[in-house]
Amino acid sequence: MSKKNQSKADAHSFFSCIEKNFDKAARYLSIKKGLLEQIKSCNAVYRMHFPVKIGKEIQVIEAYRVQHSHHKLPCKGGIRYSIKVNQDEVMTLAALMTYKCAIVDVPFGGAKGGIKIDPQIISAENIEKITRRYTSELIKKNFIGPGIDVPAPDYGTGEREMSWIFDTFLSIRPGEVDALACVTGKPVSQGGVRGRKEATGLGVFYGIRELCKMKEEMLSVGLDIGLNGKKVIIQGLGNVGYHAATFFHEAGAIIVALAEREGAIYNKKGLNVSNVILHLKKTGSILNFPESKNIEDTEKALELECDILIPAALENVIHKHNANRIKAKIIGEAANGPVTPEADDILGKKGVLIIPDIYLNAGGVTVSYFEWLKNLSHVRYGRMEKRFSENMNTELLQVIETSCRKKIPIEEKKMILRGPREIDLVRSGLEDTMINGFHKIRDLKKSLKIENLRTAAFVLAINKIIDSYEKLGIFP
Ligand code: GLU
Repeated sequence: MSKKNQSKADAHSFFSCIEKNFDKAARYLSIKKGLLEQIKSCNAVYRMHFPVKIGKEIQVIEAYRVQHSHHKLPCKGGIRYSIKVNQDEVMTLAALMTYKCAIVDVPFGGAKGGIKIDPQIISAENIEKITRRYTSELIKKNFIGPGIDVPAPDYGTGEREMSWIFDTFLSIRPGEVDALACVTGKPVSQGGVRGRKEATGLGVFYGIRELCKMKEEMLSVGLDIGLNGKKVIIQGLGNVGYHAATFFHEAGAIIVALAEREGAIYNKKGLNVSNVILHLKKTGSILNFPESKNIEDTEKALELECDILIPAALENVIHKHNANRIKAKIIGEAANGPVTPEADDILGKKGVLIIPDIYLNAGGVTVSYFEWLKNLSHVRYGRMEKRFSENMNTELLQVIETSCRKKIPIEEKKMILRGPREIDLVRSGLEDTMINGFHKIRDLKKSLKIENLRTAAFVLAINKIIDSYEKLGIFP
């Protein structure tokens, strides 16, 4: 381990970092200690080892599924494939899911899964074997099911893995009518919902856009209102970072730097995100992109001049050793846990506005909720109302045209007539969720005079969880 990583790892466990944030928030509430302990702790940790034949060898695979909270069921959260997976990490990510779901009013308890493998060096065939075996282990112990625990994609997994999980579940539980709802993030052709893939990145965009509309906050960091012309750096070009970058680019922000594992690229006039992706597909790396400067040490990209910094990869990338060198005025936590508590304090003192992960990256689970509902209702969004809305709109336009004695141009007419498609409904549901979530946190921050948005977000989450415990009558 490098000296730098050593000192990071020595500091605290990831779980205790989240507990610190929780404890700060608890000071604003008068809740019994035992109840706070119950909310904080992980309800169930399933650590497994199973053998998989890879080539001629048998390999023992280490994997986890952690259910952090059962206050609402099913539990919900992604599955991560990474060689760095460990129990502390999965427990922390599961806890973050609980708070995230509470903040955006998604009725799930938090969970997370992880398999300790490097998917970049394992063949697709072997990843399939491992995924299917992991799923059957979950089924054996009743750790998966539409009303029990519903996995989704995370770092290192995607639609492909989710469809293997679904297929394995269905083959072991044939005839289960709600089987499609046992996992979300599936391909649309296999019961997925339109708009799930880009949901986390789009949610990140909506959340930061909302903050940038606030006069008071923008004034505090010396920025103009709106996204147009704002300089943005994105770390991580996976599913979340890539989509976030695309939405910011389309909204007129200037993407000055993009960072990946192998290094970063920089152009103060802005990078064209879709061209960078084409370059990445062609060469296997973002480096040497035309009209940009290479930055070999990818961590250095976080320290470049910009207005908005979006860490969209892994945890703990902003820590006490680099926090002082961060120049961004706004940090949008697209990843889970990218800022350590020490860094959070340093940045807070510098006046940096941090939009916390437990709110900002909740777009993924929000649209997963829509997918789960779609699977349970067995009907595509918009199927019932699309034609009805179109007929209503046609009649309305006819009345307007006759009474105004004026014809509406055909192109405008088409726009107004169109009934909602699944993607329209999913995106508007996501936009509404992200805007409402932001204002609930901001209002709470103001009314209780809370020091920052993260603590306010935790206060909101704790309040919501307490509410549902009270409704269950467990803690009168
Ligand atoms: N892995 C995503 C997250 O961290 C999505 C979870 C889900 O959709 O259940 O929020």
